[in-house]
Amino acid sequence: MSNWISNKKAQIEMGLSNGATAVLLSLLLLAGSDLAETPWEQACITWLSEQDQSIFGLGVVSFDLDQLAWQRADFDRQKDFLIRTVDLALMRHRWELLDYDPPAGPDFLREFRSVLESYEREMIDSDKDWDWFQAPERFEKCPQHQVFQHANGCLICHDAA
Ligand SMILES: [Zn+2]
Repeated sequence: MSNWISNKKAQIEMGLSNGATAVLLSLLLLAGSDLAETPWEQACITWLSEQDQSIFGLGVVSFDLDQLAWQRADFDRQKDFLIRTVDLALMRHRWELLDYDPPAGPDFLREFRSVLESYEREMIDSDKDWDWFQAPERFEKCPQHQVFQHANGCLICHDAA
């Protein structure tokens, strides 16, 4: 089984093995948790952390960019936040906190960046809220990894277990 991240409205999809999914999400969390300032940005990283296969099962955390809670009025800033997160991750931001070296990490990040680039404001049907599996009571970080964790814990802790 494997996962995918897509922008179906642009007919773009990247396939990811289960291991690659955990690597990509971990790298995004390490960078994005440091960059996130606004409530939307904190929610965005928390939502990504919830795509946690240790909770929901291998190969079931695929998502389309259309599921993100884009707001038309703030779209440019929101997309820019995600692009900056990818670019910071590409600089190996806090990769030393992982208990492995991800040699393919840059490839996953570059492909995810191109999927992100393909999503445009016109693709937002309407403003919406985050679609949580289980809404977090508050946005808080794992004390060990300083990344936003979801209602059931930290993706990086779970991946290392
Ligand atoms: Zn952790």
